[in-house]
Amino acid sequence: MKELKDRILKDGKCLPGGILKVDSFINHQMDPILMKSMADEFVRRFANLEINKIITIEASGIAPAIMVGYILDLPVVFAKKKQPSTMENMLVTEVYSFTKNQSYNICVSKDYLKTDDKVLFIDDFLANGNAGKGIIDLVEQAGAELVGMGFLIEKAFQDGGRILRNTGIQIESLAIIESLDNCEIRFLKAYDA
Ligand code: 5GP
Repeated sequence: MKELKDRILKDGKCLPGGILKVDSFINHQMDPILMKSMADEFVRRFANLEINKIITIEASGIAPAIMVGYILDLPVVFAKKKQPSTMENMLVTEVYSFTKNQSYNICVSKDYLKTDDKVLFIDDFLANGNAGKGIIDLVEQAGAELVGMGFLIEKAFQDGGRILRNTGIQIESLAIIESLDNCEIRFLKAYDA
């Protein structure tokens, strides 16, 4: 998606260890106009699917997910990273965080993920695919169906894209980065959408 790639080139910053910092328009300060354009693009790409719920993980997935939910008029559930003392009937799974180098639990109430749900997962980054694997597990535990996974930015030099595409679930990434070597942002040409 050209608009996102141009913005990444303009405002994205490379950090050591293959991390792209986008906190001036996605992860901290947010650009709602760009968020809306990205959500429109997800809606276009997933138009072939029957979806009745959007799922994401707090915190950075919430903004794009709620934009998609707003456009499609669907509820948006976010997996929580801290288990609320008031939450009963929880589904829990462990996720390894690439950026924080540690594992943490994510949880969703069984009240908001049911057997007849057809769920679309939206998140900011696809790196090693651990967040995606966690969502696959939660949706499976609920007996629901994960029909698609949409990421704003995929880093193709990490393994998540290959792993998640092997599940057969439709995966869409709006900007795919081939390399951040020498702090130069290079996009994958094959996916130049
Ligand atoms: P994964 O679970 O696919 O390994 O990593 C996805 C999660 O890690 C994302 O939700 C995001 O929060 C974080 N992440 C992974 N790579 C990056 C990156 O390059 N930059 C930022 N800002 N977050 C990242």
